This record gives sequence, structure tokens and C-alpha cells, in this order.
Amino acid sequence: MKEFEIAFPASKSPDMETIRETAAKTMGTVVGNIGEIRFLRKSLDARKDIVYRYRCAAYLKNEKPQDDYVLGEYRDVHEAEPVLIIGSGPAGIFSALRLLMEGYRPVILERGKDVHSRKADNAAISREGTVNPDSNYCFGEGGAGTFSDGKLFTRSTKKGDIREVLHQLVRFGASPDILLEAHPHIGSDKLPAIMENIRKCITEHGGEYHFGCRVTDLSQSDGGWIAACSDGKTFGARNVILATGHSARDIYGMFYDKGWEIECKGFALGVRAEHPQSLINKIQYHGKYQPYLPNAEYSFVQQVEFEGRERGVFSFCMCPGGLLIPSATAPGETVLNGMSNSERNSKWANAGIVVSVEPEDIAEYCPEYAKEGPLALMRFQQDMEKSMFDYSSSLKAPAQRMMDFCRRKPSDNLPASSYFAGTANAPLHEMLPPFISMRLKRVFPQINYKMKGYYTNDALLLGVESRTSSPVRIPRDPETLQHISLKGLYPAGEGAGYSGGIVSSALDGIRCAMKIAGTAGTLQ
Ligand SMILES: Cc1cc2nc3c(=O)[nH]c(=O)nc-3n(C[C@H](O)[C@H](O)[C@H](O)COP(=O)(O)OP(=O)(O)OC[C@H]3O[C@@H](n4cnc5c(N)ncnc54)[C@H](O)[C@@H]3O)c2cc1C
Repeated sequence: MKEFEIAFPASKSPDMETIRETAAKTMGTVVGNIGEIRFLRKSLDARKDIVYRYRCAAYLKNEKPQDDYVLGEYRDVHEAEPVLIIGSGPAGIFSALRLLMEGYRPVILERGKDVHSRKADNAAISREGTVNPDSNYCFGEGGAGTFSDGKLFTRSTKKGDIREVLHQLVRFGASPDILLEAHPHIGSDKLPAIMENIRKCITEHGGEYHFGCRVTDLSQSDGGWIAACSDGKTFGARNVILATGHSARDIYGMFYDKGWEIECKGFALGVRAEHPQSLINKIQYHGKYQPYLPNAEYSFVQQVEFEGRERGVFSFCMCPGGLLIPSATAPGETVLNGMSNSERNSKWANAGIVVSVEPEDIAEYCPEYAKEGPLALMRFQQDMEKSMFDYSSSLKAPAQRMMDFCRRKPSDNLPASSYFAGTANAPLHEMLPPFISMRLKRVFPQINYKMKGYYTNDALLLGVESRTSSPVRIPRDPETLQHISLKGLYPAGEGAGYSGGIVSSALDGIRCAMKIAGTAGTLQ
């Protein structure tokens, strides 16, 4: 078997004859000796001519192709040992699926509602401006990943086998294209049905889902754990996977109140930048955009200095053809994020443009948070979100044109935006602290060097993008993955500070499930 790469103009389908000829050349043989050809990866390359690059594996006629990835089967766990899973985001549900394979009974406690009921609460956020603190764009079945962009790209290849996550998603309804594409994407219109199929599978095999079950207390008892919920129910198990995501501030508060170890963790904060998608297409395709091409993405990362200290400024969760959404988890906060449908066909391109915020920054520039101890960065994040809400006393996002922000002048008016909760003309350059706003001011003209036309007053900046990752870490033992002093408690996913994004959170959940299966195996 040999692997090779071949490119075809993006306007054309791959030509099998040319592929077989290239395979023969790569293998030093004639076309007649070539057996099966498999496509391994497809990526769009618009650096010069716009082409799709295909990574292929070619086998000789007498060679047996490698086995395809085989996803494990789920066991019937009606009578098996329960494992409590708090949170039904990617970390929670992928740990549950893995526990089914390992023969454990996942019992999922989720503060929010099922995806169907959740849609109505999300609609009410923009229609009525009210945020249900248990059911919103972050909380509810599928967690923050359900009404998201559904990008499945990750760099955390060392965390586990990404194929397990992708093949599970295909098993539950995602297009098999995600197995091939370099930047796979599902979309908010497809994700809810996938979440429902996962739930059906888990419950049919004996697992449990409990919606409207906000865990308000955790306590140790008889070598195991008791979780008490807002609806008065209690649940017990020897092991608990705590997968509550980066927005579960009450969970961090509970740890703090109980004196259980948690730590400050750096995160990133900034704005959402929204451009007309046609402009981003023009820039990224060098003026050669054609309707058959996907709406273009972009990403960048740059070190930017302020008062002698360099910090990363980077694009976050870029959504081509997407929409801006209000993703606060409590009333009185304004938080923006982006999502898109599978077709990615809105006329807008949005991305978080955020600055790394480290504990030293808060210690130096915002010393008033020192009294908050390990919650210092979380309180800073929360206060930034409140200040954005207070500006308009509503979910209308404070907004400013990009060049005006950099020139530190108010905008005369604002362009249209996809943000359906509305915008309020605001001096964002003054509302963000200087260690953030000054770095952003520097970065936008710099991006323009690589992406000519990006720095424009047709682009709108909206505040605030703050839920980039968790500002708190729940420390765990690197070997056992249990909390450093709480046996049987597995902090997992983004909320624990060990992952970022859908796939890496899912992988982290799988790792915790495997640890439980391994540990329990030696104990029994
Ligand atoms: C709008 C938006 C778009 C995004 N787009 C992408 C993208 O395109 N690609 C990508 O990789 N990532 C994206 N992300 C990030 C991604 O969704 C998260 O990284 C991922 O969902 C984290 O998974 P998790 O399981 O660790 O936590 P979460 O998904 O946050 O899930 C945590 C769950 O725990 C529940 N919970 C919290 N507290 C309690 C409690 N006390 N009791 C019971 N349940 C509780 C919550 O309701 C929630 O369902 C996006 C996020 C948002 C908000």
C-alpha cells in the first residue's frame, strides 16, 4: 500500500482514471496492477489555484486493504453498575456511549431540557430578551455543542482516537463526509436530531437521562457519591463524571465553598467581528470566488505586545455563512458566539477575535479580584459580560465599526448585523480594559497585511466574546483522571479545563469512561 496526494480544480469531481495512473506511478507499476483506492482526506487549497487536495491510499491487486475502523458495540446495561454523568455536552454523552461499550450504566443528570424544548427557550432569548438560566444556548441536551457551528476540527490528536468520535456521529446521523474532510462541520440544523438519536440509543440500552436536574450538591458517602438535584431528587454511584462545561459557575462556586481544590486558569476575551461573507470570499479566494465553492473561512494567531508583555491574540470559532447568537447563561449578561447551519449560507462571516487573559494580567490590572481567589478570572469574565448588558439594559450587543474602534472614535452609525437581539452603538474601545482593547486595536490593521480588505469600517465588532474556555481548572491526577483529592470524581471536558471544542471534549469524556472501566476492573 502507498499513500499519495492528488489535486483537482475545485470545479471538477476527482477523475478516477487520473487517480489510478498516479497510483501506478507512485507504486512503480502499471495501472492494471492497481487494486483498491481509498480516499483518506479532502482539503480545499486556495493559496494559488483553487483546488481540492485528496490524500489517497492505493493497494496492489493482490493486497488486502487495511480493515476499516470498527466502532465498538453497546452492551445491555440495565442491570450494570451505574456511573453518574453530570452534564450532557460532548464530554458527558461521549463518556456515556463509551461506558455503554464497557458495560456500565450511564445515568446522565442535565440541568437543561431536551433539544426540542430547548429550541423554544433559545427562541425566547431573542424574541423576549429573557435567558432561562437552565435552558439556553449553552445549557441543555448536547450542551454548548448542539446549537453551535458544529466544526469538528481539533488539534488534540494525542487525547485519543478522533475516529471514535467521528464514527459515532456518523452512526447517529451525521454525513459520512465528516470522515474525509480536513475541516469537518455538521451545522445547527443537523445536530439536534443526532443528539436525539444518541439519547435513544443510551436509554434503549439501559442508560438514563434526567432533564431539569441541576446538581446543586455533591457529597461523599460509603465510598461513593451522592448528587442532589434542584428538583429534589438524589442519585448515588461509586463514580461520577463531572462534565458541566465552562459556564457552570455554580459548580465552581460549590467547589470553592466546600474547600475542594480548584485553580485560576487563563482564558481569552474580546469581541466578535462580523464581515459580509462576500468580502471574506473575495479576500480568501483572491477575487476568484465561484458559487460552487464553500463560503471561506479564516484563522490567525499573533503575539501582540502591551506594556512590555506579549499575549496571544487569535481568531476563535470562525463561522463562515453563520449567525451571531446570544449565548449568556443568566439574565443580565451579554455574551456573543457564532453558529451556522450545515449549508453555511448566511451572508455573514463572524469570528471571535480574542486576547489571552492570564492570571498575572488580572493580578496586575484588576487587583480588586484578588479576594476572589481561584474564582478571580471567572468574576472578571462575569463582570465584563454584565457591563455589556448594562450598557443597553438589554441583550442588544454594544457594537462599533472596526476602524472606528481602532481609531478610538465612536461610530456615527452601525451596519446591519446577523445578531437578531440587536446592536447598540457603543464605545467598545473604552468598555474593554486597555490590556485587551489596545491589543485588539493593534491586531486588526496587522491582519490586513495577510488578508487585504479585512480591516474595514464595513466590519462590525460586538461585545463581548468571553466564553472561549474555562477560567477555572478543576485539577485532576494525570494518571487516574480523578480529582486530586476526591476519589471517584472525574472532572471532564471543557469545564474541568482539560479540553476546548466539541471533539476534544468528547475525547476527554471517553478517556474518563475508560479510566473508570479500567479502575473498576482491577477493584472487582
Ligand atoms: C454558540 C457556540 C458555538 C460553538 N461552536 C463550536 C464549534 O463549531 N466547534 C467546536 O469544536 N466547539 C464549538 N463550541 C464549543 C463547544 O460547544 C464546547 O467546547 C463543548 O460543547 C464543550 O463540551 P463539554 O461537554 O465539556 O461542555 P458543555 O457542552 O458546555 O456541556 C455541559 C453541560 O452540563 C450541563 N450542566 C451545567 N451545570 C450543570 C449542573 N449543575 N447540573 C447538571 N447539568 C449541568 C449544561 O447544561 C450542559 O449541557 C461552541 C460553543 C458555543 C456556545
